[in-house]
Amino acid sequence: MSRSHIAVCGAGLAGIATAYYLAIKYRQDHIVLIDKLQPMSLTTSKSGENFRELWPQTCMTLLMRHSLDLMQALADENDNVFNMRNTGYDFVSQSSDRNILPSWQLADSGGPGAAVRLTDLEEIRAANPSLSGNIRQIVRVKHAGAIDVNALGYLLLTEAKRAGVEVRTAAVQYIKRTGPSGFCIDVESGTGTTQLNVDKLVIAAGPFVSHLAGMLGIELPVESIPQRKFVIPDPCGVIPRDMPFTIFADPQFLNWSDKEKRLISADPEFRWLLEEFPAGLHIKPESRQQIKLGWAYNRERETPKWAIPDDVDFPNVVMRGASRFIPALSQYIDKLPTPVVQFAGYYTRTRENWPIIGPLEGEGVYTVAALSGYGTMAACGAGELCADWIMGERLPSYARNFHPERYGDESIKAEIDSLESDGQL
Ligand SMILES: Cc1cc2nc3c(=O)[nH]c(=O)nc-3n(C[C@H](O)[C@H](O)[C@H](O)COP(=O)(O)OP(=O)(O)OC[C@H]3O[C@@H](n4cnc5c(N)ncnc54)[C@H](O)[C@@H]3O)c2cc1C
Repeated sequence: MSRSHIAVCGAGLAGIATAYYLAIKYRQDHIVLIDKLQPMSLTTSKSGENFRELWPQTCMTLLMRHSLDLMQALADENDNVFNMRNTGYDFVSQSSDRNILPSWQLADSGGPGAAVRLTDLEEIRAANPSLSGNIRQIVRVKHAGAIDVNALGYLLLTEAKRAGVEVRTAAVQYIKRTGPSGFCIDVESGTGTTQLNVDKLVIAAGPFVSHLAGMLGIELPVESIPQRKFVIPDPCGVIPRDMPFTIFADPQFLNWSDKEKRLISADPEFRWLLEEFPAGLHIKPESRQQIKLGWAYNRERETPKWAIPDDVDFPNVVMRGASRFIPALSQYIDKLPTPVVQFAGYYTRTRENWPIIGPLEGEGVYTVAALSGYGTMAACGAGELCADWIMGERLPSYARNFHPERYGDESIKAEIDSLESDGQL
């Protein structure tokens, strides 16, 4: 039997960042970071690696702004080893309505999170000649871009280990409370099951957060929905190499011929292809003349599995949707350049799409979870916030919005009930 003061269960980017801030900011020793898999190999490795400061609600904007500041400081101190680059986000729309991103904080105090609206059609064509002539506006987010998530995680992990964090490859099988503030964790590794006694526990298990919390009888209001992206070569050079991360801000019906529509409507399994798809299809250039596309149109939650099979229809559905705003992509529909590399992971999220960070029921147990489709950009801010809670330190204003028991607070509940947009991409 061994003793650690704090166990962080889950070495995705959120768990790693939490261990990092406990060890580096708060100089805690006796921290063990446990994962059944190699660190970062579950959801974290599926990330599109994009970041933006623009969000619909102030609490989310503030969390992201702080998280990006932490990342920028790490980049500056470490020769930018994780290649943080401000390549921008362009939301494009066929509408000239000011309200294409309802309630998003476009004019957020003129700060770095502010976005600019381009409505001059000549300027729009010049900004991106591959866009459809139907695009009538671009909302350009200034503080937005991409990183190398694996390199960021590796940096945090290396520094955390140097500061004494122990990393264990083992599956958490069972957690039992041993007193008012103490836990016994059964962990299973290749060499058998061992027990670990700790004073404090952080559940950072990504899609399996409910499973681990359930071991302590705690229910969390999260659901997991598989989402995907894929990378293909762009042999015809459709996407300019300097194009920002570009998001179609309009919902759409996919373009089908009348014959295709008849065939699809005759087959109940495929009828969903005729329904309206949500806004948010995104595309960006990748290295080596490749492009990466994603579209979180799936709304079907499921009980998380450790591996998600490829969806053979997904790349062609996305390509068809993308040709709506980048017409030259239509040459790739049903003729995708190969290899097609697909990545699938869960958006584990709350109904309002805010994370859950802070203390759970009872003493000594915390979580940093439900990071949905934004955990790469939020991880530093979220991990630091979880460490602040554990250490009983001063909390930022937005901490209450992300508290696991926020739904009991009438004013927060009213805010959640009135949300127009959950900011998901
Ligand atoms: C397709 C896709 C695209 C995305 N794109 C972006 C993006 O562009 N920008 C962005 O900011 N975010 C993006 N995200 C979101 C981001 O990837 C996630 O929010 C983030 O990776 C979540 O990190 P995590 O540490 O909470 O979870 P995970 O990375 O899933 O880590 C949880 C860890 O817990 C471990 N674990 C679970 N159960 C146990 C157990 N019983 N015992 C031991 N270990 C256990 C797992 O093995 C895993 O390593 C995307 C996600 C997906 C799916």
